[in-house]
Amino acid sequence: MAAHGANQTHKGYPVTVKYTQLFINGEFVDAISGKTFETYDPRTGDVIARVAEAGKEDVDLAVKAARNAFDNGPWPRMSGYERGRIMSKYADLVEQNMEELAALETLNNGKPVAIARLVDLPTCSKVLRYYSGAADKIHGQTLKMAGPYQGYTLHEPIGVVGLIVPWNFPLVMFFNKISPALASGCTLVLKTAEQTPLTALYCANLAREAGIPPGVLNVLSGFGDPAGAAISHHMDIDKVSFTGSTETGRKIMEAAAKSNLKRVTLELGGKSPLIIMNDADVEEAVNLAHQAIYFNMGQACIAASRIYVQEGIYDEFVKKVVERAKKQVIGDPFTDGVHQGPQINKTQFDRILQYIEYGKQEGATLLTGGNRIGDKGFYIEPTIFSHVKEDMKIGKEEIFGPVMSIFTFKSIEEAIELGNKTTYGLAGGIVTKNIDVANRLSRSIRAGIVWINCYAVFDGDAPFGGYKMSGIGRENGLYDLSNYLQVKCVITPLHHSPWL
Ligand code: ADP
Repeated sequence: MAAHGANQTHKGYPVTVKYTQLFINGEFVDAISGKTFETYDPRTGDVIARVAEAGKEDVDLAVKAARNAFDNGPWPRMSGYERGRIMSKYADLVEQNMEELAALETLNNGKPVAIARLVDLPTCSKVLRYYSGAADKIHGQTLKMAGPYQGYTLHEPIGVVGLIVPWNFPLVMFFNKISPALASGCTLVLKTAEQTPLTALYCANLAREAGIPPGVLNVLSGFGDPAGAAISHHMDIDKVSFTGSTETGRKIMEAAAKSNLKRVTLELGGKSPLIIMNDADVEEAVNLAHQAIYFNMGQACIAASRIYVQEGIYDEFVKKVVERAKKQVIGDPFTDGVHQGPQINKTQFDRILQYIEYGKQEGATLLTGGNRIGDKGFYIEPTIFSHVKEDMKIGKEEIFGPVMSIFTFKSIEEAIELGNKTTYGLAGGIVTKNIDVANRLSRSIRAGIVWINCYAVFDGDAPFGGYKMSGIGRENGLYDLSNYLQVKCVITPLHHSPWL
């Protein structure tokens, strides 16, 4: 393994890589095969460190540890109050180590460090606290039986869960997945994305420090195939929760069907519409549209990659949104004032530039951007196309980059029809001052979350998930607990007791 050094800083930020092994049964260990892989800095493409690479046999080992912790360990058996107390302590540790975690996230993922500190990290500790508070509020129902019987339901933890996360919000995804699963009393095997293994390993160590018992949380670095596939095919994993592409989601569901019919939650891709009506404040609409697509370098499943502008304000909107894009500050994500860092890696960078080419070839109008910036790392100009149609590649496929596509419409009926003209259904946005229009649109958009006069607002209490090919199930909120619980019905006869 590479030497990682101690107390390194970059532009004043601490960026030491301390943990690079697999975290199994409460210990950091090498992969059984001894294999490692390189993880890169998206600013340069340079290697940051070598990380242990989990194979099928490491997944088996982690599942054994999780199974033992579930069948024999204290975690599912302790009171919800006690689990919540440990999770609260974990949240304290995340907050205490926020600076270092934010810097490490930026080093491995490329997002502006200010965003990592102000958005990503607080989201992590908040979601942990949300579910730490939920851990002692999991209860079933008393049944009103139509006979002299007593019936009630128990909400039991589902068992060993496999969690597979992507690279765009490595830490947020880590905590979004583990928090409800931990609160429910499950034990976990989580695989990080191969592009961004570092911060989850750091947080595995914090889990140990917080007092989460060995085997409850196992964290593996590795590739979709073999490690991810070993999780989704595993006969001793009771449930898998996945966030990533629709294509991989399909494979995971197939694997679940072919193995032990494990429960599946999928949070997949999107091609979300933002519908801007004539009565909108144009400045506000421009700001919202800009943030809704360029946030996280466009690498967000909820990105508003289809902007629908009503014809009355179309010209003014287009002029101003182009001016706004040109003011975007792009550069080293560790530098103050930078809005946009590099894309995650060469593969994604090439893919985005290819989509920009498709846009030009298919007859959309390139208004600004379209090029790489510099000759090192993976920086791309904020790009805007107008005259986009729903059947063009850039109009229907998820680009996952800083590419805005602008469409126009005349009537609200047309906005509804075009907005829904997608196989996805993750999110949608509406900009209007008219409450009746807002109500009609929000109830007509076929998506799991709709933002009115705002965009990308998340909360531990706000359920999130997709319609159509954007996924199955909801994450966040109390709804998410049901992903990790199963319902047992218990019935006994009532002898010599009042039956009321
Ligand atoms: P992307 O193309 O954006 O990297 P993916 O959906 O391929 O998105 O990846 C998201 C997560 O899914 C990553 O952790 C990746 O390793 C994992 N993954 C990829 N392929 C598979 C697979 N066949 N089975 C299970 N997990 C997979």
